[in-house]
Amino acid sequence: MLRKGDIREILSPIALGSMRFPHKESAIETVAACLKAGVNYVDCSPVYGYLSEEENSESWVGEALAGCREAIFLSTKCSPGNGGLEIGEEFQPCKGFGVRSAEQLRQVMEQSRRRLKTDHFDGYHLWTVHNITQMKEAYKPGGWMEEARRAKAAGMFDYLGVTTHADSATIVEFLKTGDFEMVTLPYHLLDSTREEAVRWAGAHGIAVLAMNPLAGGLLVGNAETVTAVFGDMGIAGPVELALNFILSTPGMTSALCGMTLASQVTDNTAAVARSRWGKAERKEIVRRFKSMGADAGIGICTGCGYCSPCPQGLNIPRILRAHNAYYVLRLGEMAVQSYRKTAAREEAYNASNCLACGVCETRCPNSLPVSRMMSRLSRSDKE
Ligand code: SF4
Ligand code: SF4
Repeated sequence: MLRKGDIREILSPIALGSMRFPHKESAIETVAACLKAGVNYVDCSPVYGYLSEEENSESWVGEALAGCREAIFLSTKCSPGNGGLEIGEEFQPCKGFGVRSAEQLRQVMEQSRRRLKTDHFDGYHLWTVHNITQMKEAYKPGGWMEEARRAKAAGMFDYLGVTTHADSATIVEFLKTGDFEMVTLPYHLLDSTREEAVRWAGAHGIAVLAMNPLAGGLLVGNAETVTAVFGDMGIAGPVELALNFILSTPGMTSALCGMTLASQVTDNTAAVARSRWGKAERKEIVRRFKSMGADAGIGICTGCGYCSPCPQGLNIPRILRAHNAYYVLRLGEMAVQSYRKTAAREEAYNASNCLACGVCETRCPNSLPVSRMMSRLSRSDKE
């Protein structure tokens, strides 16, 4: 049975995200491995793996938790938004989007209780709230937050969280409301721009979960570069580098990993158990990571966003994440494929739309030659 109290001391360093389960068997195998390895947090949402009311990730997790529910901190969520930056105009209960009234939240919570086969969640998240407009929608009279507070007081869940891609300062504003005891945000080696929010949360007793800890898989599969640069520091590979970078950030509680196999649970927990860095080691690792950018001839984009807006409407930090993956981590074909696919459908992600005006370069604190990086990236599939 999980004890109650300071949530930061309850959650395990590795947490399980249930978004990638392809079927029930995967959920059962992975949850069993988590119990064995001491991973005690499972994060769900109505839309993950959704095929039908019977076949979806919440239902699979519900089956996987039969007989061991009390050993797991179970959290799920829903959103007044639509998964993106807008308010969800359409109420989609089966996916947990467009939840904008008390009655709608009751309906979606009831659905999750039924699917997860539990009458009580340990955590519940206000989900995909990425800006002030979406947060205001949640706080409107008779809306999401009012009902969530009522449900919490009635004992339907213990801890309230928020899941967001907002920038660091906006996240701190969200947390200052005092309503949230946990926050889930994007944070990894290629994008540590929310570090200040992580510190603020940790200093105020709020648990922080890092989503996307392996940068959508971009941080794995490059063992040679990692061994060459960090091998003498005893870092065995990219997973160890990525997860320990996250967990050594002051204020960070857990890395939320979308695992689907028992072997991933074993690998991730072993990577974390092997090395926990002190302040000095972390500093050296970050220095070397940055120098990899120098070795690649240009530098690493830290994703801070100070260069925005681009007159061409380009999402510069997002595009340069692909540049980091290809030129710094040298992920080759994998990085190019991923960039090419998104660039083909989103103008804002297409580096060939850069006119080399140089406006962004005057704002970049890292003095990056952004237009050269854009041009290099747009040519990368031909190299
Ligand atoms: S150089 Fe390219 S990316 Fe930078 S502001 Fe100009 S058009 Fe945008
Ligand atoms: S290009 Fe420079 S300013 Fe823009 S996100 Fe990257 S590091 Fe920050």
